[in-house]
Amino acid sequence: MPSPDKALTLIDRDEIVELSKQLIRVPSVTGDEKRVVLLARDTIEGLGVETRLHGSAERPVLTATLNPEAETLLAFNGHLDTVPIASRDAWETDPYDPQLTGNTLTGRGSCDMKSACAVMIHVLGIAKRQRLPLGVSLHLVPDEEKGANRGTKILLEEMAKGNLRRPDHVVIGEKSNLKLRVAERGGWSFKIRFRGRATHTAYARHEGINAIAKASRGVLALEKPIDKWHPWIGAPVISVNSIQAGTAGNQVPDECTIGVDRRLIPGETPDTVAAEVTQALDEAGRGDPDWRWEIDAPKDAEGKWTYTPASYTEPDTPLGKALQSSIRTALGKEPELFVEWAGGTDGAHYRSAGIPTIGFGPNGEHMHGPNELVYVDTLVAQARVYVALLHALSP
Ligand SMILES: [Zn+2]
Repeated sequence: MPSPDKALTLIDRDEIVELSKQLIRVPSVTGDEKRVVLLARDTIEGLGVETRLHGSAERPVLTATLNPEAETLLAFNGHLDTVPIASRDAWETDPYDPQLTGNTLTGRGSCDMKSACAVMIHVLGIAKRQRLPLGVSLHLVPDEEKGANRGTKILLEEMAKGNLRRPDHVVIGEKSNLKLRVAERGGWSFKIRFRGRATHTAYARHEGINAIAKASRGVLALEKPIDKWHPWIGAPVISVNSIQAGTAGNQVPDECTIGVDRRLIPGETPDTVAAEVTQALDEAGRGDPDWRWEIDAPKDAEGKWTYTPASYTEPDTPLGKALQSSIRTALGKEPELFVEWAGGTDGAHYRSAGIPTIGFGPNGEHMHGPNELVYVDTLVAQARVYVALLHALSP
Protein backbone atom coordinates (compact mmCIF):
# COMPACT_ATOMS: atom_id res chain seq x y z
CA MET A 1 0.00 0.00 0.00
CA PRO A 2 1.58 3.32 -1.07
CA SER A 3 1.81 5.99 1.61
CA PRO A 4 -0.69 8.85 1.30
CA ASP A 5 1.64 11.46 2.83
CA LYS A 6 2.46 13.19 -0.45
CA ALA A 7 -1.13 13.07 -1.72
CA LEU A 8 -2.46 14.57 1.52
CA THR A 9 -0.37 17.69 0.89
CA LEU A 10 -2.20 18.17 -2.42
CA ILE A 11 -5.54 18.82 -0.70
CA ASP A 12 -6.42 22.47 -1.20
CA ARG A 13 -9.03 24.02 1.08
CA ASP A 14 -9.56 27.05 -1.17
CA GLU A 15 -10.13 24.90 -4.23
CA ILE A 16 -12.72 22.82 -2.36
CA VAL A 17 -14.52 25.98 -1.22
CA GLU A 18 -14.42 27.53 -4.69
CA LEU A 19 -15.83 24.45 -6.38
CA SER A 20 -18.50 24.10 -3.69
CA LYS A 21 -19.52 27.71 -4.32
CA GLN A 22 -19.73 27.13 -8.07
CA LEU A 23 -22.03 24.16 -7.57
CA ILE A 24 -24.21 26.00 -5.01
CA ARG A 25 -24.64 28.97 -7.38
CA VAL A 26 -26.48 26.78 -9.88
CA PRO A 27 -29.95 26.07 -8.44
CA SER A 28 -30.82 22.40 -8.83
CA VAL A 29 -34.02 21.60 -7.03
CA THR A 30 -34.95 17.98 -7.72
CA GLY A 31 -36.25 17.73 -11.29
CA ASP A 32 -34.10 20.62 -12.51
CA GLU A 33 -30.56 19.28 -12.16
CA LYS A 34 -29.30 19.39 -15.75
CA ARG A 35 -27.27 22.60 -15.50
CA VAL A 36 -25.40 21.62 -12.35
CA VAL A 37 -24.73 18.10 -13.65
CA LEU A 38 -23.22 19.57 -16.82
CA LEU A 39 -21.12 21.96 -14.74
CA ALA A 40 -19.77 18.99 -12.75
CA ARG A 41 -19.14 17.13 -16.01
CA ASP A 42 -17.16 20.02 -17.47
CA THR A 43 -15.12 20.40 -14.29
CA ILE A 44 -14.21 16.71 -14.29
CA GLU A 45 -13.36 16.75 -17.99
CA GLY A 46 -11.06 19.65 -17.15
CA LEU A 47 -9.13 17.28 -14.87
CA GLY A 48 -8.57 14.98 -17.82
CA VAL A 49 -10.91 12.26 -16.57
CA GLU A 50 -13.47 10.73 -18.92
CA THR A 51 -17.14 11.18 -18.13
CA ARG A 52 -20.41 9.64 -19.29
CA LEU A 53 -24.00 10.74 -19.03
CA HIS A 54 -26.75 8.20 -18.42
CA GLY A 55 -30.53 8.42 -18.22
CA SER A 56 -32.43 11.15 -20.03
CA ALA A 57 -30.99 14.26 -21.67
CA GLU A 58 -33.11 16.45 -19.40
CA ARG A 59 -32.01 14.75 -16.17
CA PRO A 60 -28.57 13.31 -16.87
CA VAL A 61 -26.79 11.05 -14.40
CA LEU A 62 -23.04 11.60 -14.43
CA THR A 63 -20.30 9.03 -14.04
CA ALA A 64 -16.56 9.59 -14.34
CA THR A 65 -13.96 6.87 -14.10
CA LEU A 66 -10.24 6.98 -13.66
CA ASN A 67 -8.28 3.78 -14.48
CA PRO A 68 -11.32 1.85 -15.70
CA GLU A 69 -9.22 -1.27 -16.30
CA ALA A 70 -7.83 -1.48 -12.76
CA GLU A 71 -8.53 -4.62 -10.78
CA THR A 72 -10.42 -2.86 -8.00
CA LEU A 73 -12.97 -0.09 -8.49
CA LEU A 74 -13.98 2.32 -5.74
CA ALA A 75 -16.92 4.63 -6.41
CA PHE A 76 -17.93 7.79 -4.57
CA ASN A 77 -21.61 8.69 -4.79
CA GLY A 78 -23.06 12.15 -4.28
CA HIS A 79 -26.32 13.79 -5.31
CA LEU A 80 -26.49 17.17 -6.99
CA ASP A 81 -30.19 17.83 -6.48
CA THR A 82 -31.42 19.85 -3.51
CA VAL A 83 -34.68 20.48 -1.74
CA PRO A 84 -36.41 23.78 -2.62
CA ILE A 85 -36.29 27.02 -0.61
CA ALA A 86 -39.33 26.76 1.65
CA SER A 87 -39.34 30.32 2.95
CA ARG A 88 -36.92 32.80 1.43
CA ASP A 89 -37.48 35.30 4.25
CA ALA A 90 -36.09 32.87 6.81
CA TRP A 91 -32.69 32.93 5.05
CA GLU A 92 -30.22 35.52 6.26
CA THR A 93 -28.37 35.38 2.92
CA ASP A 94 -29.30 34.51 -0.65
CA PRO A 95 -29.41 30.69 -0.64
CA TYR A 96 -27.85 30.63 -4.12
CA ASP A 97 -25.11 33.14 -3.32
CA PRO A 98 -22.83 31.06 -1.08
CA GLN A 99 -21.07 32.90 1.73
CA LEU A 100 -17.87 31.81 3.41
CA THR A 101 -17.58 33.12 6.96
CA GLY A 102 -14.63 31.70 8.84
CA ASN A 103 -15.22 27.98 8.95
CA THR A 104 -18.77 27.98 7.62
CA LEU A 105 -20.02 27.93 4.06
CA THR A 106 -23.69 28.85 3.78
CA GLY A 107 -26.10 28.16 0.93
CA ARG A 108 -28.67 25.72 -0.36
CA GLY A 109 -26.92 22.41 -0.91
CA SER A 110 -23.83 23.41 1.08
CA CYS A 111 -24.36 20.53 3.51
CA ASP A 112 -26.77 18.37 1.49
CA MET A 113 -24.61 17.80 -0.46
CA LYS A 114 -22.88 19.84 -3.13
CA SER A 115 -19.76 20.57 -1.06
CA ALA A 116 -19.24 16.85 -0.50
CA CYS A 117 -19.52 16.39 -4.29
CA ALA A 118 -16.89 19.12 -4.69
CA VAL A 119 -14.62 17.15 -2.34
CA MET A 120 -15.09 14.05 -4.50
CA ILE A 121 -14.14 15.95 -7.65
CA HIS A 122 -11.11 17.46 -5.88
CA VAL A 123 -10.00 14.02 -4.68
CA LEU A 124 -10.47 12.58 -8.17
CA GLY A 125 -8.05 15.22 -9.44
CA ILE A 126 -5.52 14.19 -6.80
CA ALA A 127 -5.99 10.52 -7.70
CA LYS A 128 -5.30 11.39 -11.32
CA ARG A 129 -2.04 13.12 -10.41
CA GLN A 130 -0.99 10.27 -8.11
CA ARG A 131 -1.27 7.53 -10.78
CA LEU A 132 -2.52 4.97 -8.28
CA PRO A 133 -3.30 1.47 -9.55
CA LEU A 134 -6.91 1.80 -8.39
CA GLY A 135 -10.06 2.41 -10.39
CA VAL A 136 -11.90 5.47 -9.05
CA SER A 137 -15.40 6.43 -10.13
CA LEU A 138 -17.66 9.30 -9.25
CA HIS A 139 -21.40 8.75 -9.43
CA LEU A 140 -22.92 12.24 -9.35
CA VAL A 141 -26.66 11.85 -9.50
CA PRO A 142 -29.95 13.75 -9.59
CA ASP A 143 -33.21 12.73 -7.92
CA GLU A 144 -31.88 11.59 -4.53
CA GLU A 145 -34.36 13.72 -2.65
CA LYS A 146 -37.32 12.08 -4.39
CA GLY A 147 -36.44 8.41 -4.39
CA ALA A 148 -33.54 8.00 -6.87
CA ASN A 149 -35.58 6.45 -9.69
CA ARG A 150 -34.05 8.98 -12.08
CA GLY A 151 -30.68 8.95 -10.32
CA THR A 152 -28.73 6.21 -8.56
CA LYS A 153 -31.25 3.54 -9.52
CA ILE A 154 -30.53 4.24 -13.20
CA LEU A 155 -26.85 3.50 -12.57
CA LEU A 156 -27.72 0.21 -10.87
CA GLU A 157 -29.88 -0.72 -13.88
CA GLU A 158 -26.97 0.12 -16.17
CA MET A 159 -24.71 -2.13 -14.08
CA ALA A 160 -27.25 -4.95 -14.22
CA LYS A 161 -27.34 -4.65 -18.02
CA GLY A 162 -23.54 -4.66 -18.22
CA ASN A 163 -23.40 -1.07 -19.49
CA LEU A 164 -21.54 0.29 -16.48
CA ARG A 165 -18.82 -1.29 -14.39
CA ARG A 166 -20.00 -2.43 -10.99
CA PRO A 167 -17.83 -0.92 -8.24
CA ASP A 168 -16.28 -3.21 -5.64
CA HIS A 169 -16.82 -0.59 -2.93
CA VAL A 170 -19.00 2.51 -2.67
CA VAL A 171 -18.61 5.51 -0.37
CA ILE A 172 -21.59 7.85 0.05
CA GLY A 173 -20.62 11.44 0.86
CA GLU A 174 -23.75 12.54 2.72
CA LYS A 175 -23.24 14.34 6.02
CA SER A 176 -22.09 11.89 8.66
CA ASN A 177 -20.14 14.19 10.99
CA LEU A 178 -16.91 12.42 9.92
CA LYS A 179 -18.25 9.15 11.30
CA LEU A 180 -18.88 5.88 9.51
CA ARG A 181 -22.44 5.40 8.39
CA VAL A 182 -22.58 1.62 8.00
CA ALA A 183 -26.32 1.17 8.35
CA GLU A 184 -29.62 2.78 7.47
CA ARG A 185 -33.02 2.05 8.89
CA GLY A 186 -35.52 0.17 6.78
CA GLY A 187 -39.21 0.93 6.79
CA TRP A 188 -42.63 -0.62 6.95
CA SER A 189 -45.75 1.48 6.45
CA PHE A 190 -49.04 -0.04 7.51
CA LYS A 191 -52.52 0.89 8.57
CA ILE A 192 -54.44 -0.16 11.64
CA ARG A 193 -58.21 -0.15 11.38
CA PHE A 194 -60.08 0.20 14.64
CA ARG A 195 -63.67 -1.02 14.63
CA GLY A 196 -66.69 0.42 16.39
CA ARG A 197 -70.45 0.52 15.82
CA ALA A 198 -72.23 3.34 14.05
CA THR A 199 -75.33 4.91 15.53
CA HIS A 200 -77.08 8.26 15.96
CA THR A 201 -75.29 10.61 18.33
CA ALA A 202 -78.29 10.43 20.65
CA TYR A 203 -77.57 6.73 21.27
CA ALA A 204 -73.80 7.15 21.53
CA ARG A 205 -73.65 6.12 25.17
CA HIS A 206 -75.68 2.93 24.99
CA GLU A 207 -75.64 1.63 21.39
CA GLY A 208 -72.62 3.25 19.74
CA ILE A 209 -69.04 2.16 19.84
CA ASN A 210 -66.89 5.08 18.84
CA ALA A 211 -64.02 3.91 16.65
CA ILE A 212 -62.24 7.27 17.06
CA ALA A 213 -62.17 6.83 20.82
CA LYS A 214 -60.77 3.32 20.37
CA ALA A 215 -58.12 4.52 17.94
CA SER A 216 -57.12 7.34 20.30
CA ARG A 217 -56.22 4.79 22.91
CA GLY A 218 -54.32 2.82 20.28
CA VAL A 219 -52.36 5.85 19.09
CA LEU A 220 -51.23 6.69 22.62
CA ALA A 221 -50.16 3.08 23.13
CA LEU A 222 -47.99 3.17 19.99
CA GLU A 223 -46.51 6.69 20.12
CA LYS A 224 -43.61 5.83 22.40
CA PRO A 225 -39.88 5.33 22.20
CA ILE A 226 -39.03 1.73 21.33
CA ASP A 227 -36.75 0.03 23.80
CA LYS A 228 -34.42 -1.62 21.27
CA TRP A 229 -30.93 -0.74 20.10
CA HIS A 230 -28.55 -1.79 17.37
CA PRO A 231 -24.91 -0.65 17.67
CA TRP A 232 -24.74 0.36 14.00
CA ILE A 233 -27.87 2.46 13.80
CA GLY A 234 -29.46 2.88 17.22
CA ALA A 235 -33.15 2.54 17.98
CA PRO A 236 -36.08 1.93 15.66
CA VAL A 237 -38.78 4.59 15.31
CA ILE A 238 -42.55 4.47 15.19
CA SER A 239 -44.79 7.37 14.26
CA VAL A 240 -48.55 7.52 13.66
CA ASN A 241 -48.67 9.91 10.73
CA SER A 242 -52.26 9.87 9.45
CA ILE A 243 -55.80 9.24 10.65
CA GLN A 244 -59.12 8.84 8.88
CA ALA A 245 -62.56 8.47 10.37
CA GLY A 246 -66.09 9.78 10.43
CA THR A 247 -68.78 10.21 7.81
CA ALA A 248 -71.34 12.63 9.26
CA GLY A 249 -71.59 15.12 12.07
CA ASN A 250 -74.45 13.26 13.74
CA GLN A 251 -73.18 9.70 13.40
CA VAL A 252 -70.91 7.78 15.76
CA PRO A 253 -68.05 6.50 13.55
CA ASP A 254 -67.80 2.74 13.09
CA GLU A 255 -64.26 2.79 11.68
CA CYS A 256 -61.07 4.72 12.33
CA THR A 257 -57.89 3.98 10.39
CA ILE A 258 -54.46 5.18 11.37
CA GLY A 259 -51.37 5.19 9.15
CA VAL A 260 -48.19 4.11 10.87
CA ASP A 261 -44.62 4.61 9.67
CA ARG A 262 -42.24 2.24 11.41
CA ARG A 263 -38.49 2.50 10.77
CA LEU A 264 -36.64 -0.79 11.19
CA ILE A 265 -33.22 -1.73 12.54
CA PRO A 266 -31.33 -4.83 11.34
CA GLY A 267 -33.19 -8.00 12.26
CA GLU A 268 -36.65 -6.43 12.29
CA THR A 269 -39.40 -7.51 9.88
CA PRO A 270 -43.12 -6.77 9.57
CA ASP A 271 -43.75 -9.97 11.56
CA THR A 272 -41.64 -8.82 14.51
CA VAL A 273 -43.27 -5.37 14.37
CA ALA A 274 -46.78 -6.83 14.15
CA ALA A 275 -46.03 -8.91 17.23
CA GLU A 276 -44.95 -5.77 19.13
CA VAL A 277 -48.00 -3.84 17.97
CA THR A 278 -50.26 -6.70 19.03
CA GLN A 279 -48.71 -6.77 22.47
CA ALA A 280 -49.06 -3.00 22.90
CA LEU A 281 -52.65 -2.92 21.68
CA ASP A 282 -53.70 -6.01 23.63
CA GLU A 283 -52.49 -4.23 26.73
CA ALA A 284 -54.21 -0.97 25.78
CA GLY A 285 -57.53 -2.76 25.26
CA ARG A 286 -57.39 -5.13 28.19
CA GLY A 287 -60.85 -5.66 29.74
CA ASP A 288 -62.65 -3.90 26.89
CA PRO A 289 -65.09 -6.30 25.19
CA ASP A 290 -65.47 -3.90 22.24
CA TRP A 291 -61.76 -3.58 21.48
CA ARG A 292 -61.34 -4.63 17.85
CA TRP A 293 -58.62 -3.72 15.38
CA GLU A 294 -56.67 -5.20 12.47
CA ILE A 295 -53.52 -4.44 10.52
CA ASP A 296 -53.96 -3.60 6.86
CA ALA A 297 -50.83 -3.43 4.68
CA PRO A 298 -49.86 -4.27 1.11
CA LYS A 299 -48.72 -7.83 0.46
CA ASP A 300 -46.66 -9.46 -2.27
CA ALA A 301 -47.73 -12.34 -4.53
CA GLU A 302 -46.86 -14.84 -1.80
CA GLY A 303 -49.04 -13.07 0.74
CA LYS A 304 -46.18 -11.52 2.70
CA TRP A 305 -46.18 -7.91 3.82
CA THR A 306 -43.93 -5.78 1.62
CA TYR A 307 -41.31 -3.62 3.34
CA THR A 308 -37.78 -2.26 3.08
CA PRO A 309 -35.36 -4.04 5.41
CA ALA A 310 -32.62 -2.12 7.20
CA SER A 311 -29.52 -2.03 5.04
CA TYR A 312 -25.98 -2.28 6.27
CA THR A 313 -22.39 -3.10 5.40
CA GLU A 314 -20.53 -4.63 8.29
CA PRO A 315 -17.74 -2.48 9.75
CA ASP A 316 -15.24 -5.32 9.36
CA THR A 317 -15.67 -5.75 5.60
CA PRO A 318 -12.59 -4.80 3.54
CA LEU A 319 -14.19 -1.39 2.85
CA GLY A 320 -15.03 -0.84 6.51
CA LYS A 321 -11.53 -1.76 7.62
CA ALA A 322 -9.95 0.43 4.94
CA LEU A 323 -12.08 3.39 6.00
CA GLN A 324 -11.25 2.86 9.65
CA SER A 325 -7.52 2.77 8.96
CA SER A 326 -7.91 5.84 6.70
CA ILE A 327 -9.57 7.79 9.52
CA ARG A 328 -6.67 6.90 11.82
CA THR A 329 -4.10 7.86 9.19
CA ALA A 330 -5.77 11.03 7.91
CA LEU A 331 -7.37 12.43 11.06
CA GLY A 332 -5.26 10.85 13.79
CA LYS A 333 -8.28 9.68 15.74
CA GLU A 334 -10.24 6.54 16.38
CA PRO A 335 -13.11 5.91 13.95
CA GLU A 336 -16.64 6.16 15.29
CA LEU A 337 -19.94 4.90 13.95
CA PHE A 338 -22.62 7.40 12.93
CA VAL A 339 -25.51 6.33 15.14
CA GLU A 340 -28.03 9.11 14.70
CA TRP A 341 -31.66 9.85 13.97
CA ALA A 342 -30.85 10.17 10.29
CA GLY A 343 -32.89 9.57 7.16
CA GLY A 344 -31.84 7.29 4.33
CA THR A 345 -29.27 7.77 1.58
CA ASP A 346 -28.69 6.23 -1.83
CA GLY A 347 -26.41 3.74 -0.06
CA ALA A 348 -29.36 1.39 0.43
CA HIS A 349 -29.67 0.96 -3.36
CA TYR A 350 -26.07 -0.17 -3.77
CA ARG A 351 -26.35 -2.48 -0.79
CA SER A 352 -29.51 -4.06 -2.19
CA ALA A 353 -27.44 -4.89 -5.29
CA GLY A 354 -24.86 -6.56 -3.04
CA ILE A 355 -22.22 -3.82 -3.22
CA PRO A 356 -20.47 -2.99 0.09
CA THR A 357 -21.36 0.66 0.81
CA ILE A 358 -20.47 2.94 3.69
CA GLY A 359 -21.22 6.61 4.20
CA PHE A 360 -18.57 9.11 5.22
CA GLY A 361 -19.16 12.83 4.90
CA PRO A 362 -18.82 16.25 6.51
CA ASN A 363 -20.66 18.02 9.29
CA GLY A 364 -23.02 20.94 8.92
CA GLU A 365 -26.36 22.31 10.06
CA HIS A 366 -29.88 23.06 8.88
CA MET A 367 -30.13 20.53 6.08
CA HIS A 368 -33.42 21.09 4.23
CA GLY A 369 -33.98 24.28 6.23
CA PRO A 370 -33.05 27.96 5.99
CA ASN A 371 -29.40 28.99 6.46
CA GLU A 372 -28.05 25.58 5.54
CA LEU A 373 -24.32 25.45 6.18
CA VAL A 374 -21.33 23.16 6.13
CA TYR A 375 -18.17 23.35 8.25
CA VAL A 376 -15.24 23.76 5.86
CA ASP A 377 -12.72 22.04 8.10
CA THR A 378 -14.89 18.91 7.92
CA LEU A 379 -14.78 19.08 4.12
CA VAL A 380 -10.99 19.13 4.29
CA ALA A 381 -11.11 16.21 6.75
CA GLN A 382 -13.46 14.36 4.37
CA ALA A 383 -10.98 14.91 1.54
CA ARG A 384 -8.10 13.65 3.71
CA VAL A 385 -9.93 10.45 4.56
CA TYR A 386 -10.90 9.89 0.91
CA VAL A 387 -7.30 10.38 -0.21
CA ALA A 388 -6.06 7.98 2.47
CA LEU A 389 -8.74 5.50 1.37
CA LEU A 390 -7.47 5.56 -2.22
CA HIS A 391 -4.12 4.48 -0.86
CA ALA A 392 -5.54 1.95 1.56
CA LEU A 393 -7.43 0.23 -1.25
CA SER A 394 -4.59 0.40 -3.78
CA PRO A 395 -2.80 -2.91 -4.25
ZN1 LIG B 1 -28.63 14.34 0.80
